[in-house]
Amino acid sequence: MSGISDRIRVHTGDITKLAVDAVVNAANSSLLGGGGVDGAIHRAAGPELVAECRMLNGCKTGDAKLTKGYRLPARYVIHTVGPVWQGGGKGEAELLASCYRRSLEIARNHDCRTVAFPAISTGIYRFPKDEATSIAIGTVSDFLRQNTMPDVVTFCCFDEQMAELYRRAVTALREG
Ligand code: ADP
Repeated sequence: MSGISDRIRVHTGDITKLAVDAVVNAANSSLLGGGGVDGAIHRAAGPELVAECRMLNGCKTGDAKLTKGYRLPARYVIHTVGPVWQGGGKGEAELLASCYRRSLEIARNHDCRTVAFPAISTGIYRFPKDEATSIAIGTVSDFLRQNTMPDVVTFCCFDEQMAELYRRAVTALREG
């Protein structure tokens, strides 16, 4: 029997190389580019991306906004703003879950069958990786249970250690 875990993939590598309908960007609230995955996406997409982002008027933490993908193999970029980790008492977990949910709603509303996420907030924003992984898998699997679109979600991890955390969480989902 096929389950939700069959619609979840874990990939190790650079998200800017993925030919999916939408890649999610871990942006900052200005949406004007930054370091980490944000910088990599803007470099690979070309200057047209920041030009479109300038017209969006920024984005609140926990929310997401869509642009075209320009020179990326992905058709769209969904820019979401993760919470900066401040110890856990500032609603960080709920804000991170909201990033995944809002991104998936926008993807579904634009008929995206395939979506790739980076590990939002786990870099410069210092969210603990274990907790961020369980929020990512929990929120995405809940959404997939309730929606047929997107069909497949890929978690694109930059390193093998992160990918291992995700694989373990997907296995737990399968066995749970
Ligand atoms: P944040 O500010 O939300 O913490 P970062 O870009 O600093 O965002 O980090 C988010 C995650 O993205 C980290 O796990 C980092 O290792 C990863 N990352 C950085 N560059 C890439 C890339 N090109 N493709 C996929 N993941 C990346």
